Amino acid sequence: MSNGALTVLRQYAQKRNPSTLPPSLYFSHTDATLTIFDTFPKALFHFLVLPRPAHYQPRGLSVFDLASLRALLRKTENRERGREVLLDLRAEGARLRGVIEEEMRKRYGFVWGVWMGFHAVPSMEHLHLHVISADLCSERLKHKKHYNSFHPARGFFLPLDDVLAWYDAAPSYFDTVSQLKKSEYEPRLKEDLVCFRCERALKNMPALKAHLQEEWD
Ligand SMILES: [Zn+2]
Ligand SMILES: [Zn+2]
Repeated sequence: MSNGALTVLRQYAQKRNPSTLPPSLYFSHTDATLTIFDTFPKALFHFLVLPRPAHYQPRGLSVFDLASLRALLRKTENRERGREVLLDLRAEGARLRGVIEEEMRKRYGFVWGVWMGFHAVPSMEHLHLHVISADLCSERLKHKKHYNSFHPARGFFLPLDDVLAWYDAAPSYFDTVSQLKKSEYEPRLKEDLVCFRCERALKNMPALKAHLQEEWD
């Protein structure tokens, strides 16, 4: 993948007027955050909420501090600033969840869960909160690693509230978890496929997708 593809989220977040982004991408923005559609949705509803560097620069956070969850957490000289970014993402995520739930009601006649969190090891640069409906029904969900990266019990997906709770834990604990070691998290993507609802083991992705679809219907 070229550098441009890896850093495209940062470019979006740095746009002075994000509403000029293509409508297939742009959802909404505030002074502090930009919300876009995930262009490879892994569920029926899948958005990304990004912090906008221009808002955080005067508050002592550079684009490098916003490069990833790890970078933000490891900015030890000003830990409280990092927490504020996460609280801003949570506020926007909560608002977005309300919009998603309304859409669920309208389109499907009922409401189901919405997960909010980060990948422990991100595949793209610039901090982004995943806001994703708890169905994992999508054409774009093709590989085991995609599925396991959102599986709530695998631990690769870090719920936002869990990350916020690290700030209230002992400093030594914070130091350890905030390292987000690749060697600890990446093997979780290779674990066996298990249905996140009923814990049934499935032998391959086609079987898993058929099973998820069946439970969905
Ligand atoms: Zn991601
Ligand atoms: Zn199941």
